This record gives sequence, C-alpha cells and structure tokens, in this order.
Amino acid sequence: MTATASVQDEARRTLDAVAAEFPDLPREVLVKEDVLRRGVWFTPEALAKGNEYARKSYFIFSFDHRPLSEMKGEARDHAPEEIALEGGPSQFRRVVVSVRLNPESPYVVAVDGEGAVGLSLGPTFLAGVAFSPRPAYYGTVLTDGTPITEVAPSIEWGYLLYLTVFRMCQYFGKEEECQFCDINRNFKQQRSLGRPYFAIKPVDRLLEALRHVAASGSHAKAYTLTGGSITSDLEGLDEASFYIRYAEAIEAEFPGRWLGKMVVQALPKEAVVRIRRAGIRIYHPNYEVWDKDLFGVLCPGKSRYVGRDTWIQRILDAAEVFSPSAVIPNFVAGIEMSKPHGFVREEDAWRSTGEGLDYFMRRGIVPRFTTYCPEPLSVLGQTNGPASLRYHAGLLRTWRDIHQGHGLPAPPGYGAPGLGQGVFSVSSFMDVIAPGTPVAELSPS
Ligand code: SF4
Repeated sequence: MTATASVQDEARRTLDAVAAEFPDLPREVLVKEDVLRRGVWFTPEALAKGNEYARKSYFIFSFDHRPLSEMKGEARDHAPEEIALEGGPSQFRRVVVSVRLNPESPYVVAVDGEGAVGLSLGPTFLAGVAFSPRPAYYGTVLTDGTPITEVAPSIEWGYLLYLTVFRMCQYFGKEEECQFCDINRNFKQQRSLGRPYFAIKPVDRLLEALRHVAASGSHAKAYTLTGGSITSDLEGLDEASFYIRYAEAIEAEFPGRWLGKMVVQALPKEAVVRIRRAGIRIYHPNYEVWDKDLFGVLCPGKSRYVGRDTWIQRILDAAEVFSPSAVIPNFVAGIEMSKPHGFVREEDAWRSTGEGLDYFMRRGIVPRFTTYCPEPLSVLGQTNGPASLRYHAGLLRTWRDIHQGHGLPAPPGYGAPGLGQGVFSVSSFMDVIAPGTPVAELSPS
C-alpha cells in the first residue's frame, strides 16, 4: 500500500506552507521532522542498492506506524536503522533520520530515473539518501548464539551503542504505562515473530558483545544504558542498583572507553550519586511533557509513583551531582497535542513547553526532544496520529531561541552540532544549533 495522490499533495502543500511560515528553519530540518512524524517506506529496488548497511534493530520501542504483523515486503525486515538525506536537486545539507516504517507514508525511498537512491514525495525527488553504515562487528554471533545486534546495536550513524538491558517496563497496562510508549507490546510482537529479543541482558553477554565492539575498531563514542522502569525490584535489585551493575561492569573492563549515559527515572539524590560514581557521565531523567495536567494523564505511572514536583526537584538535585549540562531530560515532542486531553492550538503548546524549557535552561539544564511517533501498539497511538508539522517547526524554533537566549553550549554526548554535522536521528534539535557552537565540557569519569 502507498500513499494516495491526495495525501502526497497535502504533504507537499503543508511542507511548503510551513517552510514559508518558518523561513529561519532550514528546509532539511522540516523534511526530517516530517519524515519522523509521518514515517517512511522503501521500494525493494532502493533496498537492493543499499549494499552493506545497518538494519533497523528495534533498539527499544517499535518506532513504527504499523504493527510488524500488518506490514509486508522487504522493507519490513530489511529497512535500515537510519537514513541520511543529502544532496539532490535542492542540495540538501546532511541530516540523519531514524527510520520509522509506514507503508502509507507519502515519503518513499526509491530509485530515481538516473539510478540513484533518493527520498521522494509523490513524483518529486527531494534529496539523495544514504543508508546507515554497517559497523564492522555486525554479523557477529555471541557464544550463547545471540546475534550481537540484539545486545549492542549502533545508532546515530555509529556514534552511540544503545544498550537496552531490560526490554520491558514495570509500569504495565493502560493505568500505569506512559500512554505514548509501546515497550511492553513491542517486546511481545518481536517475540511472536520469533526474533531473538530478550527481556533482560545478562551482564556477561553484554561484556562479551562489547569486547567484539572494541576489537572491531568501531568508532562509537558513547553508550546509553537503559530499559524500562523498575517500580519494585528486578533480579532482587531496585532500579538504580539494577542499572548500576552494568555501568560498573563496563567501566571496570573498559574504563573511559566510551562516554557513559544512563536513561532511568528521576531517582533520589543518593541513587544519582551512586550512578555518577559508577562512571556514568550523562544522566537522562526523562520528563516527557511539561504541562502539569498532561504529565498526570500521559505518564500516569510516573505521576503516581514519583509525582511531578518530586520529578522536577530530582532533576535539579541531579544537576548538583552531575553538573547541569550533564543532566538532559527528554521531552516527547508532540504528545502534548494528542487528543482528547492535549492542546488544540499549537501556540498554546509552544508556550507550555517553552515555559518548561526556560525553567530548566535558566539553570543550565538543556532538555532534548524525541519527535513523537504514534506507535499503534501504544495507548495513545490507537487513537492519535502525529502532531502537525507546524507544531514541530514552532517547537524547534522555541527550543533554539531559548537555548540561544541563555547563551548555552550544545548538549554533550551527541557529537558535533549544526546542520550537516548532527547525527542525532530522532529529533532535529542538534541540527538547529548554530554551527560552531561549543559543546559543553564534561567532568572526567
Ligand atoms: S517509564 Fe514510560 S516511557 Fe519509560 S519504558 Fe516505562 S512506560 Fe515506557
């Protein structure tokens, strides 16, 4: 199935209208956000031209617009992890985009009349496309038979090793899980397709994988340790202790080899001190949405177990432990526009998130975004599509202007900032930072 001509026309008209309203945002960024929010599809011919590339690894969530069982064709099993849009008729400066599959997207990666792989919107080719390079260690099978990509996939064009050590979340069911998140259902769909996808990664298996990564000459610069929240215990450990054991094991064998990051809940200060002592250098207590009421509705488990005020206070406490620039909470850009509880007008959403951004950035803490993907296996994705392109454009402008207004450096742990340089693939916030902006320095491990 492909997008109808009317959907393609609507997408083209919307893109042009948003570009006219936001002339200060590069067109590359607008296309990237539109591809992220609408998803993308691939023709078999384009995939066949991709040669050696890193396939989509489902590193934590599905980040797709359809369940895998409802998608057919090569794209379902052979899509790349990311694509880079570069060159083409408009001479795109490079932007890296995470692949979110949608067979009905108006954006299709296809082969043009001259045999080149490009991104098309209806009959128009917008930009050349490169597929994410395949790290040398891909294809390795660990001693227990596990493919290494199940344990230590690379994303962000090879910059980041994404180590999801717990593939489920103890916020379970509609009453508790974050309404935009499909971690538990994605785990089930991967297992039901017979893919190797394990709930908990044994520490030894992770270390074995990292030995292969290190020996392969991988140019990864950082790792992220993450997984679902632990509200009681897992293998007899609380959330901090469970994730810290991986950090300690990695840093004991590979001290300072990669920049260690951890995505866990906003934990009490004493736990954050232990995370820092384990060698982690960037802490992501993801906040998801700023508005008080929406936080309660969209993150009911976090709201009930931790609470909004405590969550905010713990972010501030963590800044004392890590330094403000090393605490980077994530906002899921777009969920605040979801029905039935979200904002109706984009202006109101920009004002709300702008307030949250200013609150943190005034204190030197720079939140980042993940552009919302309406995953159909999540609660929200069953009734909601993506937020509008206009919303995403305005949000990026808001982020950029507040960031500049406070004279802050680029967030650390994402590589170089600026259009043509950025590798962060699930949002354009790194692409809208002025080239040459210095990156915040981190204290040593
Ligand atoms: S805490 Fe929320 S976003 Fe994180 S894994 Fe659990 S349900 Fe998903």
